[in-house]
Order: sequence, then structure tokens, then C-alpha cells
Amino acid sequence: MRARDNQRSKVYAAEQAFIAQLKTLKRYDGLRMERVPDIQAWVDKILESHQWKTHFTNVIYANKVEVKDGRGRRRAGGGMWEISLPKWARDKVVALHELTHSAVARKHPRAAAHGHEFCKIFLMLVKRWIGQWEHDALKAWMRTKRVKFSPPRQSNRPRRISPAQQAALKRGRAALARKRVLQKRMAASEDPGRLESSSSTEY
Ligand SMILES: [Zn+2]
Repeated sequence: MRARDNQRSKVYAAEQAFIAQLKTLKRYDGLRMERVPDIQAWVDKILESHQWKTHFTNVIYANKVEVKDGRGRRRAGGGMWEISLPKWARDKVVALHELTHSAVARKHPRAAAHGHEFCKIFLMLVKRWIGQWEHDALKAWMRTKRVKFSPPRQSNRPRRISPAQQAALKRGRAALARKRVLQKRMAASEDPGRLESSSSTEY
């Protein structure tokens, strides 16, 4: 089960403030991509990059993301194998937001749709594929809107647990590991086309 998507509206707020800032500073027009084939070519270039291959490819899932025109949709959307971009959404910021959903589905399948894992990857892609200045600006907006982009800090206090609790923990971890292996096997045998709709996330 995925974690609850509880910072979604904060992520939207940060992104909208960032885009408004880009427009004010006349840095936005250069990020527009009007035609779906152009966006597809850009996405393909990202998928073939060393950065993407190092972090977001695995033996289970095909390294493909189809860009759809988002016709009939008000919202943009992104899942493991496709992103949908209605006309208003055709810029590099929203395209990377949606592509980040694909990256999260591949690397952190249990994470919240817009959790800290999402934000870290989004920033990483913005830095590489848009620029350092834009990365810094978006990160500053995330801070302003109290968006988390790193894991919660662990407590340094050592935990005292009894040998019985330790044994129970060990059994639990072993059961979880067996379950993961089974899930991986199942995912590998499933038809990607069928998984596509279930992994699609609303913008
Ligand atoms: Zn989203």
C-alpha cells in the first residue's frame, strides 16, 4: 500500500508560485513546449540519459514513457508508462513533474505520490534538465511552502528492545522479504498495458 499523499497541495502551491515567478522574470516562455512530438523527443532523451538509467531503470519495467496530448482532461497526469499533458501544461516544469511520477513508481512504489521522495527527484530532474537557477528557485518555494524534500530525521536515541521483541522483528523482516520477492515475480509477469492505468496518478 502506498503512503498517504498528504503534501500534495503544498507541492502544487510551491510549483505554482515558482511558475508565476518564472513568468514575472520572463524566464517562462523558453520552457514552453507546444507540440506533443517535441515533448516526447525531450522525454526520450531524458530516459536515455546516464542520470535516468543510473537511478530509475530496473530489470522489471520497460524504460518507456509515452507522452499523451491530454485531450479531454483538465489535469495533467503521470504514471509509470505515460504522462498526459493538456495544452496549458505543456512546459518543461509540468512535464518533469509528471515524469517524476514515473520515476517514483519505479524507484519508490510505496511512497506517497507527492512525498519527500517525489520532491527530491523532481528537484534533481529540474537541476539537470532545466537549470541550477530554476532548481534553487523551486527549492526555495518548497521551503517557503513547508514541502518536505528529504526523509524525516531519525532519532539518535538508541532503542532498547527485549530479545523476544528482537526475534519478532527478525521474523517480520524475513516475512516481508519473502513477500517482496513474490510481488516482484508477479509484477514481472504482468502485462505493462494493464498496469498502466492503475499506476497513473492525477497531477
Ligand atoms: Zn503530481
